[in-house]
Amino acid sequence: MKRFVIAIDGPAGAGKGTVARLVAERLGFLYVDTGAMYRALTLKALRCGIPLDSPVRLTEMARQTRIEMLPCAEGCRVLLDGTDVSEEIRSEEVSRNSHAVSSVREVREVLWKLQRSYRDRHNLVMEGRDIGSVVFPDAELKVYLDADLAERARRRWLQLKGKGIEADLTEIQRDLSARDRRDAGREIAPLVRLPDAVYVDSTRMRIEDEVALITRLAKERMACGSKRACD
Ligand code: C5P
Repeated sequence: MKRFVIAIDGPAGAGKGTVARLVAERLGFLYVDTGAMYRALTLKALRCGIPLDSPVRLTEMARQTRIEMLPCAEGCRVLLDGTDVSEEIRSEEVSRNSHAVSSVREVREVLWKLQRSYRDRHNLVMEGRDIGSVVFPDAELKVYLDADLAERARRRWLQLKGKGIEADLTEIQRDLSARDRRDAGREIAPLVRLPDAVYVDSTRMRIEDEVALITRLAKERMACGSKRACD
């Protein structure tokens, strides 16, 4: 049976994780955070002292690594070679260095295979940068979730504050902007706004409204049987 896939792409800090998780919960779909996979490999490279400027070593490492995503109430837990690293992968060091791992084609190929395998058994809400463009170009619903840079930085700042971490707003904004530039500017699977993706600017939207919108679009497309049948 063909599974239903909702692909949510967009820049860092646009709220993809929260929205994707809630949409998945509403529809009873599996939520998959692909950024967490790139982060897990980055963490391993940093821990093992694998040079981040060596595509060969990074590829070798990726091929020998087991990444598992376990669904849970807060989204998904990430197991790296059997160990839960869900908190560790959120560090600033990992955020700053993940582009080195995510710009290696062979590393991406390892993760693409894993990401596509989820469709064998589940309806999915998968979020990342290249889900609609590369992982599932035939996704039933594609969403590009955006927000102004200043608003994304403010949200990240509030998130950190909520965890008791004092951070500098200007620095967060600079980091987000640098990550966007690298993700959109890389040669392999760059972040792109696809013509067939529904564009959602969340700058002034409430999370409930974003979730309601995406859930409604998904239900409409499910009712139609396929996106093309509705066009
Ligand atoms: O989504 P998140 O910010 O956790 O992703 C961390 C990094 O992983 C991104 O900055 C990007 O370099 C990479 N990534 C990617 N493709 C995806 C998801 C994430 O290249 N599908």
